[in-house]
Amino acid sequence: MRIALRPLLAALVGLGLLAGAPLLRAADMVIKTSPGKPSLNRNVEPDAEESLGKLAKKPAPKPPLGAASEDSMDKLRERLAEKLGAGKTIESKDPAVLRVVARPSAATGAVQVGGATAVSPGVPPEPGIHWSEPRRAAAVARPPAAPKRPAHGGHWAYQGEGGPEHWGQMKPEFSTCSSGKRQSPIDIRDGIAVQLDPVQFDYKPSNFRVIDNGHTVQVNLAPGNSIEVMGRRFELLQFHFHRPSEERINGRQFDMVAHLVHKDLDGKLAVVAVLLDRGSVQPIVQTVWNNLPLEKGEELPAKAMIDLNGLLPAERGYFTYMGSLTTPPCSEGVLWMVMQTPVSISPEQIGIFSRLYPMNARPIQSASGRLIKGSN
Ligand SMILES: [Zn+2]
Repeated sequence: MRIALRPLLAALVGLGLLAGAPLLRAADMVIKTSPGKPSLNRNVEPDAEESLGKLAKKPAPKPPLGAASEDSMDKLRERLAEKLGAGKTIESKDPAVLRVVARPSAATGAVQVGGATAVSPGVPPEPGIHWSEPRRAAAVARPPAAPKRPAHGGHWAYQGEGGPEHWGQMKPEFSTCSSGKRQSPIDIRDGIAVQLDPVQFDYKPSNFRVIDNGHTVQVNLAPGNSIEVMGRRFELLQFHFHRPSEERINGRQFDMVAHLVHKDLDGKLAVVAVLLDRGSVQPIVQTVWNNLPLEKGEELPAKAMIDLNGLLPAERGYFTYMGSLTTPPCSEGVLWMVMQTPVSISPEQIGIFSRLYPMNARPIQSASGRLIKGSN
């Protein structure tokens, strides 16, 4: 039996079938998921170390969208049938049904997606891809519709449904978060004390842009800053913050940490971690806080320049080990250098960050017998 669409829709509205609304939205979002991914702008890198890992990879396979929409449609028909007292006899497979019923959800506009990842309405965040310019343009061109993925599975966070224990199951491309054997952060202990070549920092005053990307406060830097370590040169792309520090040293966690994310010409990543410990005002952090955008997802070019030499401790000894991004997709092969001497940050400065992100640290991962070296 085939049912007429308009009466059906009218019945829907008439019955106030509110419980059906989420299904409609889910169906709508599934339909709207476009196959194309925006290309990433090298210098407008997303949150954390994370999405850099994506650059080196081909786009991951899409989730089984067809299955999801079929499922939603079946449930919808079932629900409709119940309300209409028709049992399960409605058999329309006409795709037009989907289009018609899906439309109201687009009109309803914003749908809440997990707290930590929420951004400005109409600019749905893509985990791991936060601010490429092309993406912004695309978001403007689109109507302010629902997020790209259903609320139940889309967005990683630090607590709740999207929390770290679920990252590996959220998307195929996040699977390393649970299956990886060389993950970060770790508790740094039992390292071997050796004579490590100092990291050669080649930082200079630079233009920068600050963004609150929904996972952290991140500073994207103009080109021209680099480090040399183990005979390779890595360019500084961005730095961002975690509270409390993700890494621990002999079990001790610090108030915050800054991760300075670098990449070499082969796409290999090197992250310098600067631990931030409660004390006096940190001038570079203050420059960043001074330039915080008012809105999440808004990237604000600063008028001032920033010199990252001012964020480094005077004593340059460090620990080094091979690990991963500490955010999805948790890609491995990341060279970590954790500065042994923390840098001071004032309680007020910590307070400002914690207003935005009270807790954005991934739990400690197993060191799994990895070699850790430390400057002696
Ligand atoms: Zn980080």
